[in-house]
Amino acid sequence: MIKYVIGLLVSILAVAFFRAVSGLLTNAVKDAMQPEAKPGSGAPPPSEASTRLRKCKTCGTFAPETRMLRHSTRDAEIFFCSKECEKKEG
Ligand SMILES: [Zn+2]
Repeated sequence: MIKYVIGLLVSILAVAFFRAVSGLLTNAVKDAMQPEAKPGSGAPPPSEASTRLRKCKTCGTFAPETRMLRHSTRDAEIFFCSKECEKKEG
């Protein structure tokens, strides 16, 4: 009878041990297989395509279009680097 109980305990322990080991192995494999998480890698860099350099009509300074004062005329667009240049040009 006691042999039976010991055998049962040993088998239970063996199963528990096997499960623990296989669980660790599974986790290790999962960690190895998973690619590294790269936070923020999906966000593309801000596009500079729309930011073109424009020449100030008055002083000839080049500056990004978004930072310049724009005057649309019938034929073209005129850019000024500052209010002062805008005034000078009239
Ligand atoms: Zn200017």
